[in-house]
Amino acid sequence: MKNEFDTLAPCGVYCGACPSFDKTCKGCASDDKEQDRCSKWNCKIRNCCYNEKKLSFCIKCDQFPCKVINKKLLNTHRNDPRFTYRHEIPDIFIKLKIMSLDEYFNFQIQRWKCDSCGGTIQFYLYKCKNCGEEKMINQI
Ligand SMILES: [Zn+2]
Repeated sequence: MKNEFDTLAPCGVYCGACPSFDKTCKGCASDDKEQDRCSKWNCKIRNCCYNEKKLSFCIKCDQFPCKVINKKLLNTHRNDPRFTYRHEIPDIFIKLKIMSLDEYFNFQIQRWKCDSCGGTIQFYLYKCKNCGEEKMINQI
């Protein structure tokens, strides 16, 4: 895949909205070994999707959402709104079945874009990385 799509993690998380992106991490889809964030190499979801199933995204798998992604991601921190970006994945990810990769990529960029300055909204706190403006997750 093209590097521009490195922000599209196999599990459906948009890495561009992660506070670690462009600091220690180049995105979960990146295969570049020259990055500090190493947890991705051992991620069970990533390994299953890329190495076992040979897919680019879990949504392309007929077992989605499987036990692994439920346990590791979708059902984690269920009562904590900071993790809504995980809980919403099945609803958002499904668009990749009707959109091209380019369309889906642009859709994610727009969703996580700050209305005030055009910067990127980060998950957990749902605030702009650039100006600090908040964006409610239900507006994203
Ligand atoms: Zn902003």
